[in-house]
Amino acid sequence: MGIVVQKFGGTSVADSDKIKNVADAVIREKLNGNKVIVVVSAMGHTTDNLIKLSKEITATPPEREMDMLLSTGEQVSMALLAMAINQKGHKAVSLNAMQVGIMTEANHTRARIINIKHNRVNSHLNKDEIVIIAGFQGITEDGEITTLGRGGSDTSAVALAAAFKADRCDIYSDVEGVYTTDPRVVPTAQKLDVISYEEMLELARVGANVLHPRSVETAKLCDVPMRVRSSFKLDDLGTLIIGVDKMELHKPVTGLACDSSQVRIVICDVPDKPGNAGRLFSLLANKGLSVDMIIQSYARSSNNTNDIAFTIDKTDLPKFNEVVGELKNELNPSNFHIDEDIAKVSIVGAGMIDRPGIAAKMFETLAQLEINIKMISTSEIKISCLVEKAHAKEAVAALCSVFELDGAAVADVKGDLPV
Ligand code: ADP
Ligand code: ASP
Ligand code: MG
Repeated sequence: MGIVVQKFGGTSVADSDKIKNVADAVIREKLNGNKVIVVVSAMGHTTDNLIKLSKEITATPPEREMDMLLSTGEQVSMALLAMAINQKGHKAVSLNAMQVGIMTEANHTRARIINIKHNRVNSHLNKDEIVIIAGFQGITEDGEITTLGRGGSDTSAVALAAAFKADRCDIYSDVEGVYTTDPRVVPTAQKLDVISYEEMLELARVGANVLHPRSVETAKLCDVPMRVRSSFKLDDLGTLIIGVDKMELHKPVTGLACDSSQVRIVICDVPDKPGNAGRLFSLLANKGLSVDMIIQSYARSSNNTNDIAFTIDKTDLPKFNEVVGELKNELNPSNFHIDEDIAKVSIVGAGMIDRPGIAAKMFETLAQLEINIKMISTSEIKISCLVEKAHAKEAVAALCSVFELDGAAVADVKGDLPV
C-alpha cells in the first residue's frame, strides 16, 4: 500500500461545498488503495484578511505574533475537512504542526523545515485513518509556532511527501496545471504536460506563484514526483514535474513570469573602495532582507563613486527604512531612490543553454516596443528584465508571441504547415 500526499490550496477549500468536494477527492485516493496524507491551506482569502487585520492594529507587527495569527487559518480548514470526510463515512483526523512534529528553524514568518517526526502520523495511518495536516506552519525546538512564508503549504506537502517516502505529491489548485505563463493574465497560455524541476524552480522564483519555490527545491533534492492539478477536474493529470535529464527539449523558452511585487532601490555615489558592497548587503542581510537583482555601475573617474541598485520585496520596505540611518552613516551616499513603479519580466527555459541569441531576441522585442530595460539579471536558464510597471502587460504579450508561449503563436505555426 503506497502513500500519497495531496495538497489543497485556498481556493479549493474556500467554502463548505468546496470542502465537501475536496473530501470526495481524498476519499477517491483512499479507495484507490493508498494511505493518504492531506495538507490544506487556509480557506479562500483568510491569510490576506488576517494580515489586513493586523495592519489595522500596527504597521510593524512582531513576527512571532504574526505567526500566531496566520497559523490559525490552516487549522480551520483542516478541522472542517476532517469533519467532511468523517461525515462521508471514512476515518480522518486533523493534526497541526505541533501534533505532527514539523520542526523548523526559529525564523518567524519564513522558517525552513528541518525535520518531520513520524510517530504520530504513522500511528493514524496504521489505523487506516486519513491524516489531514495544517500546511504553512511549523514548530521550533522551543515550542514556538512558525510559518514558512506566503504560499508555504506547497512546501509542507512536499516535505511530508519526502519524509514519508510518498509515491506522489499532488498539488491541487484552481488551475489545471502549470502553464507557459499565468493563464489569468494571458488566457491563451498553454498548459504544459511536463516541466523540469529546474525550470519550475526558476519560474516559481521569478513570480509564477502557482508553486512555492522551496516546494520545488525540496522535490528536486528528495526526488519527489510532483504534479500540479485541478481540484475541480479530478481526472485531468495536470502537469508532471520531473528531472531535466528525462526530458527532450524542443523550445529554448518553456515559460514566462511577471512579478510586480518588488521595489528597486538605488544608492547613489557610494565611494568606490573595497568592502562597501559587503557592508551594504550585510546591513540588509542582518535585517533579514532578501535581495534579488543587483547592479553596480562602472566607477566614474570624476568622483570615484558607484551607484548600487538592487531589488527587494515591497513588503520588506518597512525593514529597509529601519536601516536607512545606519546605511547613510556607513556608506555616505549622496542620495538614494526608491522606485515602486517596476515589474520584472522573466523568460525561463532549459533549452536556452548553449543556444545563443535568446537574450538578444528578448531585448530586441522590448526595444521594438520602446520599452526601456532598467535592470537585467540572468542564470543559465533564465533572463529577467526590470521594466516600468505600465509596460509589463505589453512586454508579456510580445514575449509570449516571440517565444511561442501562447495559443496564438501555436496557431500561426500550424497555419504555415502544409495541409
Ligand atoms: P493555491 O491557493 O491553490 O495555492 P495559488 O493562488 O497559490 O493557488 O496558485 C495558483 C495561481 O497561480 C493560479 O490561479 C494562477 O493565476 C497563478 N499562476 C501564475 N503563474 C502560473 C503558471 N505559469 N501556471 C499556472 N498558474 C499560474
Ligand atoms: N495560507 C498561506 C498563504 O496564503 C499558505 C498557503 O496558502 O500556501 O500564504
Ligand atoms: Mg499557493
